[in-house]
Amino acid sequence: MRITFLGASRTVTGSSYLLEAGGRKFLVDCGMFQGSKATEALNWRPFAYDPTSLDCVLLTHAHIDHTGMVPRLCKSGFKGKIYATRATASLCRIMLPDSAHIQEFEAEINNRKGRRAGKGLIEPLYTVDDAYKSLEQFAPMPYGEKLEILPGVTVRFNDAGHILGSSIIEIWAEEGDKTEKLVFSGDLGQPDQPLIKDPTYIDEADYIIMESTYGNRKHEHFNRQDLLAEIINDTVQRGGNVVIPAFAVGRTQTIVYYLHQLLKAGKIPDLPIYIDSPLAISATDIFIQSPEDYDAEAREMVKRADNPLKLPQLIFTRTAEESKRINQREGSAIILSASGMADAGRILHHLKHNLWRPESSILLVGYQSPGSLGRRLTEGIKRVKIMGEDISVKAKIYNLDGFSAHADQDQLVNWLAHLQKPPANIFLVHGEAEMSEAFAVIIKEKFGFPAYIPRLGDAAALEGREFRIEPSSLVFVDPAVQKLQDIWDLIEADFAEFKKRIEQVLATGNGQIAIAARALEKLRKVLRDTMEAIGSGGGK
Ligand SMILES: [Zn+2]
Repeated sequence: MRITFLGASRTVTGSSYLLEAGGRKFLVDCGMFQGSKATEALNWRPFAYDPTSLDCVLLTHAHIDHTGMVPRLCKSGFKGKIYATRATASLCRIMLPDSAHIQEFEAEINNRKGRRAGKGLIEPLYTVDDAYKSLEQFAPMPYGEKLEILPGVTVRFNDAGHILGSSIIEIWAEEGDKTEKLVFSGDLGQPDQPLIKDPTYIDEADYIIMESTYGNRKHEHFNRQDLLAEIINDTVQRGGNVVIPAFAVGRTQTIVYYLHQLLKAGKIPDLPIYIDSPLAISATDIFIQSPEDYDAEAREMVKRADNPLKLPQLIFTRTAEESKRINQREGSAIILSASGMADAGRILHHLKHNLWRPESSILLVGYQSPGSLGRRLTEGIKRVKIMGEDISVKAKIYNLDGFSAHADQDQLVNWLAHLQKPPANIFLVHGEAEMSEAFAVIIKEKFGFPAYIPRLGDAAALEGREFRIEPSSLVFVDPAVQKLQDIWDLIEADFAEFKKRIEQVLATGNGQIAIAARALEKLRKVLRDTMEAIGSGGGK
């Protein structure tokens, strides 16, 4: 059998793997690349296979970086079934049309600019209509049951503890007289997260395709509730707001759960809590309607008519008008809004109104990709540009990856420790290259298992315990090149602003000239050092 790595290889987004076995062809995940312009350009490439030739698609969970290309796949002629857990299918019903809205909106903005520049019109990646049509192909799957979905292909979905409906997928594929077992970890959650069940342990597999988002990190293991209470109380005392950029699906509901507990225990004051994201509001509804997927503790609460996601303090703001009014009010509030990496959406308004206020706090509670505003805040940036406005960063910034929906290095190791026999290989995916590489070393040290980090477009031919890598036949941008391009884009954007300011200083000739000259001299040195480090470009 053969597996081709079509996304999330030496990077985090765009999860998608093509499997070919016994004449069958199917995908695990069909995700969107997210992040910088160079990364998102990958979504526009033609599919690396003929969509009409696929037999089916399996989805590990609803996040857009695992599902976001499904409407485009269906629009391109894929007619088969899309297997996902019931909750994943429900969440896709709101997330795919939401993603389509964003695509339509972006195309409209580009077309407005394009028209002024005399360019032709571009189509969105897919439309809301395409998204709704693709939903008709979904087939809900139960957890924990082995089902033959294609002749010779049997699968089982298991809890992954990442978000509601998330799954680890076991696949038994027959080829000739041999059966190979593959396990896709999907995104693995941290054990003992509120609301959802813990990740399932798998006892054996021939090949594992495993995430490594935090392969080189250990979360700080504090008491999450106490820490949250401390930050909230501290901020209220200063008279500021607590602003939480949170992924609409998953992180938002987890934080609401903690706030529920803290309010019940009287550990935080009675504050308004705004859920300012239409997608998060719809997702919270789906969570409320899915108590069968909760863990035992949350199910108990529901039995006592105390749903952990229902709170009198919660204020859901659907319209843009309601959203704007949040920033006109006096007194402290907790504001949860998307996007989780703070680079788009309504959260930008709340950051604009709070980042400059020393009395406010910003809590980053999830994965922040390189270059995103969230990542730059965790790195201590002092000035940011939001919607064309310069904002100085005075608020307290907290980077709390202990709240992450992803397992850390120890938890990933612990998941592997439950294997009863060594796999033939572990393919490490869904991690920045440094993370995956460090985790491969840990796997070899701790277990002696072989681990391989595929590049985008690589294929692996699996023959029993042997596998052979067929290097990418597709012309993909190397992620390292992409990263350099991303950094360069950021520098270029900053540089335009920099030039403008220098020109202002020169024009006014005020007392800042000496400061600017000193800074410019430093910059010249950095540029020289960089050139020296890169060498003459001859390549070593
Ligand atoms: Zn995810």
